[in-house]
Amino acid sequence: MKKLYTCLLLLACSLSSFVTYGEAFRSVEISTSQQALPPVMIQGPMPIEAQYFASLLNDVRTEKAGQATFYIGTFNGYPVVVAQTGKGLENTAAATAVGIERYHPRAIINQGTSGGHDPDLQVGDIVLGKRSVNASNFKTPFRDKGEGSAPLEWLPMDLLASEGSAGEGDSAKDAERIRYYVADAELLAAAHAVKGQYKRGKVVEGTIASGNFWNNELDRIAWLHTKFGTSTEEMETASAAQVAHSYGIPFLGIRVLSNNLTNDGHYDPSTATDCQAFVKLVIEQYIKHSKR
Ligand code: SAH
Repeated sequence: MKKLYTCLLLLACSLSSFVTYGEAFRSVEISTSQQALPPVMIQGPMPIEAQYFASLLNDVRTEKAGQATFYIGTFNGYPVVVAQTGKGLENTAAATAVGIERYHPRAIINQGTSGGHDPDLQVGDIVLGKRSVNASNFKTPFRDKGEGSAPLEWLPMDLLASEGSAGEGDSAKDAERIRYYVADAELLAAAHAVKGQYKRGKVVEGTIASGNFWNNELDRIAWLHTKFGTSTEEMETASAAQVAHSYGIPFLGIRVLSNNLTNDGHYDPSTATDCQAFVKLVIEQYIKHSKR
């Protein structure tokens, strides 16, 4: 009996010390699938095209690289980097490459304002870039001194066509073509899934044309619309698409029309925030349904 009593006492002591030991430490559990998720990267060129989305992030820290400012944080608990890239092809290409190397995004959305090439699109409508194209890569046919310049006869030039050609000779003919960057199907599907929630205008698929230009010549706009199938123009998307594709990162361009010369649509900067609010819906949808 005494032996049994001693045994029970020992057991009770060891149990109580175990409990005490266990209670002495606080613990937290994290599933392996939540660790180090790669972020989604949202790009916007100007402050009006990036600050609204940056303000939606939690636990933000800021980093700079050249003209770019990166806001690294979370959105609904999910890692998101907002990149304010600066305007134009060069700033965008640099910010995209630096952003990819630093933050290893799983997907990139380039978004912002643009100028319509399609008279059926109104200021406030959104173009989902099923394709984007650098519409400033041209080769001009020969014209002699005094024959002037004829921009509507210029030929498209694909700078990725070959490593060898310098633009002349037989192989250069292969480069006389338009290079389109095609959107990632999953990102495009996420954007389609939420387009009914956008109230400022309609949301359509189209081709986004990029270049360091602001075209105000209606015949030039019509030429690009016809020859390149462009829906709207701006200065960044194709540049980001080119770099994203070269790294194999899913990419989508989303552009609101802030102006449309083809139907007297005057510039309205408030569309920049509407576009980011739409992109917010796209990101929510993408995060909810994505496979990773
Ligand atoms: N400094 C110029 C405006 C540049 S704003 C001026 O004052 O006239 C250019 C920015 O707006 C770019 O980031 C570009 O992507 C976007 N954008 C909006 N509408 C555009 C259009 N019709 N053509 C080119 N870029 C446009």
